Amino acid sequence: MHKLDSFTLQHHYADLGPVFGTPTAPAPLSEPHIIHVNKSVMTELGLDPAESNHPDWALFSSGGKLFSGSLPFAMKYTGHQFGAFNPELGDGRALLLGEVTHNGKRWDLHLKGAGKTPYSRFGDGRAVLRSTIREYLAGEALTALGIRSTRALCIAGSSELVAREKMETGAALIRVAQSHIRFGHFEYLFYTRQLEAQHKLVEYVCAQFLPEVVGEPVQVQAEALLRLTVKRSAELAAGWQSVGFAHGVLNTDNMSIIGDTFDFGPYGFLDDYEPGLICNHSDHTGRYAFDAQPGVVLWNLNALAHALSSLLDTETLKDCLGQYQPLLIEFYAGLMRRKLGLATEDDGDQQLCADLMQLLESGRVDYSLFFRTLSHYCGERPAAALEALVSPSQHEPLGHWLSRYDQRLQKETRSAQERSRAMLQTNPKFVLRNYLAQRVIEAAEGGDFQPLHILFDLLQTPFDEHPGFEGWSAAPPESGKHLPISCSS
Ligand code: AMP
Ligand code: MG
Ligand code: MG
Repeated sequence: MHKLDSFTLQHHYADLGPVFGTPTAPAPLSEPHIIHVNKSVMTELGLDPAESNHPDWALFSSGGKLFSGSLPFAMKYTGHQFGAFNPELGDGRALLLGEVTHNGKRWDLHLKGAGKTPYSRFGDGRAVLRSTIREYLAGEALTALGIRSTRALCIAGSSELVAREKMETGAALIRVAQSHIRFGHFEYLFYTRQLEAQHKLVEYVCAQFLPEVVGEPVQVQAEALLRLTVKRSAELAAGWQSVGFAHGVLNTDNMSIIGDTFDFGPYGFLDDYEPGLICNHSDHTGRYAFDAQPGVVLWNLNALAHALSSLLDTETLKDCLGQYQPLLIEFYAGLMRRKLGLATEDDGDQQLCADLMQLLESGRVDYSLFFRTLSHYCGERPAAALEALVSPSQHEPLGHWLSRYDQRLQKETRSAQERSRAMLQTNPKFVLRNYLAQRVIEAAEGGDFQPLHILFDLLQTPFDEHPGFEGWSAAPPESGKHLPISCSS
């Protein structure tokens, strides 16, 4: 385990050359203060968690000091935003600091809120405390739920004023992911006809994630990569749908080539089960609505496939993309069976699940609370606890559904107690609901970071009971549903 002073980064990506981005020095935030250091991420990176109290974190987290070996680099990419191609994108307010390898895994460290870069366009290069906290928490919440996501190593605040809808304070975080390559990286090189550089990028990603094809012709590598991305993206979309997560801005520049949840903006976790939920207030057509995600991920994969069309013929591209839907259905069915506590497979499972979703929708039932309560139902609790979550008009349909569920459970071999235990490790008690994030943000904006620390800990272990913290597991009051989450960040 490294001490902070001996923690050293490499810079394989920056070494690819100037086609891939621009070396850029961060513009340090003024009067930075450390808000939180993520010990779990420190451990992943091979950093001694005892170093989380090191006095230099405020500087490292805000561009004031660089890790040894760091070569800050603004990555160039493009992408389709709301379906329209934008050639002007790139790291406009973030810099790849470098990479570190620990336990055979390579991690990118990326400083977000680091100031202007050649790709900032009209932006100020900054991130605000509000959005930085939202990103920090979301990475932990999804990771704890078993869904691939970028995370963050640390988060710093500052006294620097940043103009959004109102004046806010600037903040920064160090995002950590096994890769920061987006679909948009490949689109950039395709649409600018820099195809040799694109081959280099294919090889760069394969060397990290597909060692079995290294040394093969670049076409073979590109196909393996596309298949990996299709599979990971199907798994990701299935994961989001199963936990009730809506990303909000699924542009191709926000799609990770390795299938991580990437770039948190106006995302949301479902409160009531509302499949049409649009959590991004500038998404007027619902392109990125919760239930549109599986389809839009495929749209994005099509854009990626098109960007690889100088390497792969149409038949191969179609074949790769054709894997998406069956994988999505299989992953989703598996995840929902786990939520329902079904360890075996039965022909009627999909229908049973679909009918439950229908019931949750028409009964305006809180999605996460229902599954958490169902986990107890499988143990000893009676149906009354479930009825309490459902509007009275839906009690009868709920009763019908539960008797079908009871019948289905007869076919299971696990005991009710075993099933309940497994379900309680699948259906979280603590969910990153918008009203909770908002509560934490408002406290932090007033200088109180205690609620942030509490929510962070609960989200890292969301299946534990955490006696004394029941208030953090409650459904929102009516006023806490559909909070307008600003898209500015
Ligand atoms: P996003 O909507 O977060 O996916 O960002 C889209 C593009 O805008 C990316 O190229 C970002 O780097 C850039 N961008 C977002 N916010 C800012 C900002 N405050 N300053 C400069 N560039 C930004
Ligand atoms: Mg983005
Ligand atoms: Mg963003």
